Amino acid sequence: MAPLLSVRGLKVHFPISRGIWSRDVRYVKAVDGVDFDIAPGESMALVGESGCGKSTLGAAVLGMQIPTAGVISFAGEDVRHGERQTRIRLSRDIQTVFQDPVAALNPKMSIGDSIAEPLAIHGVGDAKERAERVAELLSLVGLHPQHAERRPNAFSGGQRQRIVIARALALQPKLLILDEPVSALDVSIRSQILNLLLDLQRRFGLSYLFISHDLSVVRHFADRVAVMYLGKLVETGPTETVFARPVHPYTEALLSAVPLPDPVAQRARRRIVLTGDLPSPANPPAGCSFVTRCPLAEEICRRVPPPLVAAGKQERAACHVRASRLNEEGSFA
Ligand code: SF4
Ligand code: MG
Repeated sequence: MAPLLSVRGLKVHFPISRGIWSRDVRYVKAVDGVDFDIAPGESMALVGESGCGKSTLGAAVLGMQIPTAGVISFAGEDVRHGERQTRIRLSRDIQTVFQDPVAALNPKMSIGDSIAEPLAIHGVGDAKERAERVAELLSLVGLHPQHAERRPNAFSGGQRQRIVIARALALQPKLLILDEPVSALDVSIRSQILNLLLDLQRRFGLSYLFISHDLSVVRHFADRVAVMYLGKLVETGPTETVFARPVHPYTEALLSAVPLPDPVAQRARRRIVLTGDLPSPANPPAGCSFVTRCPLAEEICRRVPPPLVAAGKQERAACHVRASRLNEEGSFA
């Protein structure tokens, strides 16, 4: 199946000034050569520690961040260089839900007006049709249509995130970028919002790019996972396989901190604690970006950046030691 979203060689580098008299321009390589696809109806999670470039990547897909290099195409069309008509259509087809539902809603507008805003901007329907669509969207996200006249402050955090989701769905998008959509919510209501998103995905065949640092959430949510470290993808694969048999030492360390449902397995598991700090993305190590924290590092790791290569049927990993051994021997047990 042709991908809905395809990202190739994506780089987003920010220049940083070292003082007005300095000619030495340095770059923060927030996203540094990323490739991935998302199929129609598929959800892919982008995981990694804060500051690894996940949100910048999401912003580039949304067209809110101009890439330094690379190509992002959506349904076969270039996101950046499209004609005006293409850009307008993409602004309908790709929508976003951010972490903070309080900041996302204008406190002075009724929630009905907020939800109707994208419809009005895109000239969809007349006022009466838009009001009907708002009522439909509110019931879709589990809120009472009679509440459309209320302001955001009449609602809880979880309800506000439902309102934000209703607004994101107003234009019937194909892809939603969910940037930490439940991180700001009480733990008790996170699963309600995640289940709502899963239900909407099934009903409308939506694709999701789910940005999260929380692997226990990702496990139940995403079809595929891409692990990001210092602007690069270090491992990708089906969620189940990556969780069961992580290849990259970084993925392994991240997963070792996620509680297992089975208490026996949990007791038997070794927690891998990473030592060393996350290097600055303005000054990443030569060779493998993970080398300063990797328990398996060898001499080659300091010199040569490992490419993201096949490490199983559908998995890919960027590690000299693990990926090559896996490909030679079929396992690294
Ligand atoms: Fe560790 Fe080397 Fe693999 Fe990088 S390439 S993750 S430093 S073993
Ligand atoms: Mg972020």
